[in-house]
Amino acid sequence: MPKVIAEKKHRIHNEVQKQGIVFNKDFGQHILKNPLVITSMLEKSALRPTDVVLEIGPGTGNMTVKILEKAKKVVACEIDPRLVAELQKRVQGTPYQSKLQILIGDALKSEFPFFDICIANVPYQISSPLVFKLLLHRPIFRCAVLMFQREFAQRLVAKPGDKFYCRLSINTQLLARVDMLMKVGKNNFKPPPKVESSVVRIEPRNPPPAINFTEWDGLTRIAFLRKNKTLAASFKQSSVLQMLENNYKLQASLQNQEIRPDFDIKQLVESVLQEAEASEKRARTMDLDDFMNLLYCFNKHGIHFS
Ligand code: SAH
Repeated sequence: MPKVIAEKKHRIHNEVQKQGIVFNKDFGQHILKNPLVITSMLEKSALRPTDVVLEIGPGTGNMTVKILEKAKKVVACEIDPRLVAELQKRVQGTPYQSKLQILIGDALKSEFPFFDICIANVPYQISSPLVFKLLLHRPIFRCAVLMFQREFAQRLVAKPGDKFYCRLSINTQLLARVDMLMKVGKNNFKPPPKVESSVVRIEPRNPPPAINFTEWDGLTRIAFLRKNKTLAASFKQSSVLQMLENNYKLQASLQNQEIRPDFDIKQLVESVLQEAEASEKRARTMDLDDFMNLLYCFNKHGIHFS
């Protein structure tokens, strides 16, 4: 590629900020510039002065300094060392310096310390794994107020029958109560992203449901692969039956149980679906209780999803 075109492309890809920082879109760097949005997110988190707050992707620290005013401590996890330096400069010599701990690195790979509250304008490309990393973190935090791409937020809060209802909805809602808080237009960010955003509050269920999440995830994965199909149809696929048969045989051998020569996984799965009154149900309209009951029935008959 000729140098001039390459440079032009680079400029389009990365917008230069006044202070000279080049925002990197690969890291989803869209700085929240509207202080009203920041204040409102903080209010909705019901932050207490004794709280430890986890912030993912503090960027240049617009939100971080506001949290520092109100919390006991902020742990901020940032992947871009240039922005870490910016943030350090911003708090240096202020009373906030000692209250801020920075974790440099990828939030998905970092080990989070204890925190009460999580507040973040999340880099959108890590939205889904981040939600589950937070929800599976122990001890359980009190509440998270997070900015996401609008469609992702709509999927998080969707209820059975809604257009956006999907595996993400049911898996999140198993572990937490999720509420939509507000819409945030693209012009509140610099540079403006291509997509609209929304803020969501996530409140983990405490105590957590007594359910093996890996098993749950395995079941909902199968059911939502074709969410408009009946479960009877979804569970007829040979790849699914093969996987369930392998798991079944492994479990049986671990427990020293013999498998009858006429064992037929297809028949067993069909009879469990009937027992759970789920054969004709479709994932798109099934709620938490439907899936809990179904998983319970499968497990009772030795069928496991992990
Ligand atoms: N919170 C700031 C910036 C949000 S932009 C504000 O609202 O103004 C998203 C931030 O997340 C950027 O600073 C980006 O560098 C950082 N980031 C992107 N991917 C990340 C990851 N995997 N782990 C931690 N931080 C990440």
